[in-house]
Amino acid sequence: MLNKLLGKFSKDLGIDLGTKNTLVYTQDKGIIISEPSVVAVNVRTDEILAVGEEARKMVGKTPSHIQAIKPLVDGVISDFEVTERMIKYFIDKVHSESFTLVPRPRVIIGIPLDITEVEKKAVEDAVKSAGARQVYLVEESMAAAIGARLPVAEAIATMVVDIGGGTTEIAVISLGGVVAWKSLRLAGNALDNDIIDYIREEFNILIGEQVAEDIKIKIGSANPLPEPMEMEVRGRDLINGLPKAAKVSDAQIREAINRTIVQIIENIKNTLETTPPELVADIYERGIHLTGGGALLRGLDKEIAQATKIPVRIAEDPLTCVVRGTGILLSDPELLEKIIMPGGDEI
Ligand code: ADP
Ligand code: MG
Repeated sequence: MLNKLLGKFSKDLGIDLGTKNTLVYTQDKGIIISEPSVVAVNVRTDEILAVGEEARKMVGKTPSHIQAIKPLVDGVISDFEVTERMIKYFIDKVHSESFTLVPRPRVIIGIPLDITEVEKKAVEDAVKSAGARQVYLVEESMAAAIGARLPVAEAIATMVVDIGGGTTEIAVISLGGVVAWKSLRLAGNALDNDIIDYIREEFNILIGEQVAEDIKIKIGSANPLPEPMEMEVRGRDLINGLPKAAKVSDAQIREAINRTIVQIIENIKNTLETTPPELVADIYERGIHLTGGGALLRGLDKEIAQATKIPVRIAEDPLTCVVRGTGILLSDPELLEKIIMPGGDEI
């Protein structure tokens, strides 16, 4: 019955609706969309001017009648209408590529761990009004673990730490369920803000979010690097308002982001403390798995391993784990049934 219902899933979709990036997966083509979660709207006409990468390039550069909106904040929908229009844009893009008439898609979508019933309903409604026939909600941590090919349905504990733009989701999974977890509103964006603060305090230079993120990606690290790195940073001199440049080093950026890194690690430790001992033993043996874009921060794996005394592994292609997990679920209805969240549609 299940197989019959979910068997022809080829035009159905898996979606990772992230604070920073939205990804879409179809069974026949794999990941077909991977774009920033940004929509540019003309506020005079209410018209959508651009979605995704094109809209991201406009952030911080728009005239007053154009707004570059990030409709998700800390993993949850903050602007319902724009989220719905963004999803619709992506679904239409997928469907316009096929020549045959296909029914409206079923969608499997990831949601954060500490989401409220109202926020859950908002995700479901946004996906439905964007054109989905049915919506299945799965926890992003679960999808990330599945995408990383971890044994979520077995009686073996798996710890996944997904570090995105707005949130870090720490979860211990066993037998198809999340048994211990923590969700923090501290992740990639917080690191960028730490860098903005540091550059302002140390050099009297004001930089934007995008520049801060570039610095983080180019020379950021959580643990000392084998070779020192540095780069030139440009922004506005806070004293005279003119452009100003300065050189920053990896050590300075490490200092800038240290307090956020420490908090993330403290929360990983706290989660381990609330995890039943049998499961902790599994985690010691099998390690902590990092997913999400934040997993790519240099030396973060090493720093977490040193602080917890547990081996840490970065998942392959961490930015796509959640959406690949939803993709695996599209073709594995038995697993989907085991891990699906209450709310959403019944299988
Ligand atoms: P979300 O699920 O919230 O959309 P993602 O998993 O897509 O987030 O990750 C986005 C975050 O990962 C951003 O904060 C981005 O700056 C960060 N990121 C991406 N690549 C790197 C990198 N190489 N080093 C450090 N951080 C990175
Ligand atoms: Mg994410």
